[in-house]
Amino acid sequence: MKPILEVRDLHVSFDTHEGEVQAVRGVSFDLYEGETLAIVGESGSGKTVTVQSLLGLIARPPGRIKGGSIRYRGREITDLQERELDQIRGAEIGYVFQDPMTSLNPTMTIGRQIGEVLVKHRKMSKGKALRHAVNLLRSVGIPNPSARIRHYPHQLSGGMRQRVMIAMALAASPKVLIADEPTTALDVTIQAQILDLIKDLKEQMGMSMILITHDLGVVAEVADRVIVMYGGKVVESGDVEDVFNRCRHPYTKGLLASMPRMDRLKEEKLEPIPGNPPDLLSPPKGCPFVERCQYAMRICNEWMPDVTVRSETHQLSCWLEHPMAPPVKEAVGGGM
Ligand code: SF4
Repeated sequence: MKPILEVRDLHVSFDTHEGEVQAVRGVSFDLYEGETLAIVGESGSGKTVTVQSLLGLIARPPGRIKGGSIRYRGREITDLQERELDQIRGAEIGYVFQDPMTSLNPTMTIGRQIGEVLVKHRKMSKGKALRHAVNLLRSVGIPNPSARIRHYPHQLSGGMRQRVMIAMALAASPKVLIADEPTTALDVTIQAQILDLIKDLKEQMGMSMILITHDLGVVAEVADRVIVMYGGKVVESGDVEDVFNRCRHPYTKGLLASMPRMDRLKEEKLEPIPGNPPDLLSPPKGCPFVERCQYAMRICNEWMPDVTVRSETHQLSCWLEHPMAPPVKEAVGGGM
């Protein structure tokens, strides 16, 4: 199967007063047609910056793509001009962000906002776009959509606003949907409804999806494959079942033990990972998890391990699993 999106050795930095923040450091992955790929990791792991790069949202300072390649349906998009990126963004790759209020225009009715997407990307007349906007609002479960199109974002609840964002993201029938923590700002019952809606629409429209979430229960329920990011790097990836049930990377193990999961019914003790993420102004030379890892060896300080392929559906980067690992695993002490 050919990937619809191919990311290779992506490096993204931000110039700040303190220096260069190396937010994404050599990330590679594929997204295949029809699949849902989840990206998980703590705040500052680089997951949001990675997907913003796919949308061409890092095209201007202080952010910059320093290296690597992003190919969408075989076409390199890192060197496209803003005008060309604008054609892909929304039309080919739709996106739903965490907080709809930052994406919706508070001064425009929701009908007009959805209509603008349809006029721009599907070349509809304004009248037809408005009629189609009503249908889109109905498809995302907004009651009385004919009246709602005249409402402004502040007149809607948080859940309704997120439904409007989904309608906008899907208006141009994109091939890929990127959903960045789409339910975080919502209460628990609404979260489940919005997730079900995204899942159903993704199936109906035959899209591929990248889902960023901190909820591993959501990953287990929705995703086919998962990427675990830490310190701007991918540390483990594979089929959800492999990564969740046969995880090998110490960070993934810590993440699984520290995060609540909707799919675990009984109460269980959560174990936070001691320590802090690395400072990406001066990231570690070797493994990014070295300061917090109880299995850290001398080599972990010096060298980042290559990807070890455990199976066709499971890879990780850790010296513990690496064929070139030193025979005697000399612990240097970590924080875990
Ligand atoms: Fe990183 Fe070494 Fe720990 Fe593996 S054992 S996670 S390479 S510090």
